[in-house]
Amino acid sequence: MKYRVFAANWKMNIGPLEAREYLRSFFSAGQLPRGCGVWFFPPAVSVEAVARGVAGHDNIAVGVQDIYWEPKGAFTGAISGAIASQAGARMTLVGHSERRHVFGETDEQTGKKVAAALAADLSPLLCVGETLAQREAGETIAVISRQLEAALAGRAAGQSRVTVAYEPVWAIGTGRNATPQDAADVHKEIRAWLAKHAPGIVRILYGGSVNLKNVAQLLAEPELDGVLVGGASLDPHGWAELVRTGAA
Ligand code: PEP
Repeated sequence: MKYRVFAANWKMNIGPLEAREYLRSFFSAGQLPRGCGVWFFPPAVSVEAVARGVAGHDNIAVGVQDIYWEPKGAFTGAISGAIASQAGARMTLVGHSERRHVFGETDEQTGKKVAAALAADLSPLLCVGETLAQREAGETIAVISRQLEAALAGRAAGQSRVTVAYEPVWAIGTGRNATPQDAADVHKEIRAWLAKHAPGIVRILYGGSVNLKNVAQLLAEPELDGVLVGGASLDPHGWAELVRTGAA
């Protein structure tokens, strides 16, 4: 049975008090299936509550949604990898499309964040993906290769700790997911790029409007090592059911 990852990006939802309640409901839904990992990415202030709530569950990990690349200093509002780690984070998202497109994060900045994450002993989940206009212009692979290059070039050390998530921007939060075939085609291209330039990275997740109805079909595609899920991870029972369905 193939090991699969189910990553939950809560975005700007679920504070620390709600997180405790969420985990109570999530665990009340029963044991997690074997052969899968569940990764939670709560808002930074909820990381400690989630880390405490999942302690002792070896197949569950907690991460932050973003870090700043400097280790410390006068950067009001930012958090470093080391601070996230103190709160219990073991991972961080890097280059999520909302960081890139809402907050204007550049490819160069995602590269600095990957380096900072590795330096702080956090495992980066690097998000890449094209906009609808780029897809329609036939630029999908060029855009993704550029994003991978900027984030990973010259970062051979620690490479094996990086996971890549293919998240087409047009599929995030829109209810319009890539078909399993579309996702698999791009995953193959990403895998080929990684084999050539960053062979330590082996895991590629798909993200973009994954839900209970489409998760099994998407994960039936062997190219997908797991899913990164926003909206459908916010309800604890629904998330537990999605994990169970996808891991079956
Ligand atoms: C995401 O936030 O990474 C995401 C894929 O969101 P959604 O599942 O809501 O499309």
